[in-house]
Amino acid sequence: MLLTIENLGVEYSSERGKVKALEGVNLQVNKGEFISIVGESGCGKSTLAYSIIRLCPGKIVSGQILFEGRNLVDLSEKELRKIRGKEISMIFQDPMTSLDPLEKIGSQIVETIRAHEKVDKKTALLRAKKLLKSVGLPEDRIFYYPHQLSGGQRQRVMIAISIALNPKLLIADEPTTALDVIVQQKILDILVELKKQGMSIILITHDLALAIERSDFVTVMYAGWVVEFGRAKEIIENPLHPYTQALLNSIPDLWVDKPIKPLKGSPPDLANLPKGCRFHLRCEKAMSKCREHTPPSIKIGKRIVKCFLYEGRNN
Ligand code: SF4
Repeated sequence: MLLTIENLGVEYSSERGKVKALEGVNLQVNKGEFISIVGESGCGKSTLAYSIIRLCPGKIVSGQILFEGRNLVDLSEKELRKIRGKEISMIFQDPMTSLDPLEKIGSQIVETIRAHEKVDKKTALLRAKKLLKSVGLPEDRIFYYPHQLSGGQRQRVMIAISIALNPKLLIADEPTTALDVIVQQKILDILVELKKQGMSIILITHDLALAIERSDFVTVMYAGWVVEFGRAKEIIENPLHPYTQALLNSIPDLWVDKPIKPLKGSPPDLANLPKGCRFHLRCEKAMSKCREHTPPSIKIGKRIVKCFLYEGRNN
């Protein structure tokens, strides 16, 4: 197993008290697997992504993050710097905030390579050209400044930088936000291609339809909990958790004539969580115990679902 997250809990301090951003989160990623983490804004997806590379401003209050057997929670900042970029890399939401506007694209890629590897500038520049080609950009873009590229091209450059050191795990945090649908598909195709080459991918997205199309597995998060985990195909064919069902019902389907049912309400305030199941205020199937008690995480085959409805169905 490349990555194993067990019982991860992350809290932020705020003026209103503790914000429980993640609680009891479990996740496993194998070599060459494509996993999506989905949910609405404020469900803990990005906190989870940033916690994996230990760049989350929140405090890890429980659990472990095992990467090839090493617990990243126990590593020093110096040790983590050797892992970031080289073994675990990340693509951020907004490429403009990650790229240096005053540096040409080529030098930014070259600097990334030379910061971690002892190679001369010429060799690094050749690699930069190859990397641009691998993400579908012409080699001459090494001479461009970020502002001379479109949003989609800048995101391709970010992917090139993220994979420059050939990491084992690539985390993409909403990499297609603000891009049009065609460019979105192309960026995701690049991620799928990287997966085919053996890289493990974690895609963070609020778009369940997008996630299911490309992923091997999907993790659905709600209010800091993993509420459902399973194979993408099984989740689309038979969603178990009422939140996953509600998310899927809110997506239009071009091929099936079904009414769209928008998901009412919004996720709870993480600083003031409701008692019992965190989804009960929006759940059409809520029972009285849902308002009082925390639902168990139930394993059904390879699926995991955190809901009272499946009690007694463990196998
Ligand atoms: Fe709905 Fe209860 Fe299941 Fe929560 S535990 S999702 S409230 S049925």
